[in-house]
Amino acid sequence: MKVKLLGTGTCVPSLQRLSSSYLVRTEQLNVLVDVGPSVVRRLLEYGYTTRDIDIIVLTHFHVDHSADLSTFLFASNYDVVPRTKELAIIGGEGFQDFYRGLLTIYPWLLPKSYELFPHELQGGVLKKSGIVITTSHMEHCKESVGVRIEEGKSVVFSGDTDYTHNLVRLAEGADLLFVECSFPERKAPGHLNLAEVQKVVDQAKPRRVILSHLYPDWDNYKGVLHPPLLLGEDGMEIEI
Ligand SMILES: [Zn+2]
Ligand SMILES: [Zn+2]
Repeated sequence: MKVKLLGTGTCVPSLQRLSSSYLVRTEQLNVLVDVGPSVVRRLLEYGYTTRDIDIIVLTHFHVDHSADLSTFLFASNYDVVPRTKELAIIGGEGFQDFYRGLLTIYPWLLPKSYELFPHELQGGVLKKSGIVITTSHMEHCKESVGVRIEEGKSVVFSGDTDYTHNLVRLAEGADLLFVECSFPERKAPGHLNLAEVQKVVDQAKPRRVILSHLYPDWDNYKGVLHPPLLLGEDGMEIEI
């Protein structure tokens, strides 16, 4: 499995960090985790198109994680080569309403040449072409989920979250954990700082940890991170 970091940022517009989004490439499928602003264009920059994606997972509906879903679906209908292969989209509680709402304001997103399967998966398991996707509720929004993707090896994404035992359980023994660490020191409800991430890591013991969803507080961070922690950067690719 390979994971490409498409974005490691937040809602704060930044030239260095696009909103958080990740491309997981398994043997059989490509999974896009979150679809923040400009992610569709970022896929092109890294040599992919929307047609390369088989599954989209939305960790929650905040704009920095979902804005380009409409761009993605619009391109699926009207790109030079329209999409023909099926697309699955997984979201937490209320995802069916979110999707129907998008179709209400943007009727042009209704799939024309392919089949779309929306799945509401607020804590559950979905198996597809040899990969297992597990979601678990996170402490951020009503619909927030963290996601674990397994194909022999395992990679976990926290999405946005405060400290929760659900994250510890989801990340337990994972080969790779992408965890939000919004601020090195500052505490904001619904997000993690470095001390809280360390607590999750000490309890869950993932092999490698990439910090992501990084606010500009990190620009002036002078501390040193110790393994297994590593600061995420846009464009990084990690193989497990
Ligand atoms: Zn966010
Ligand atoms: Zn959020």
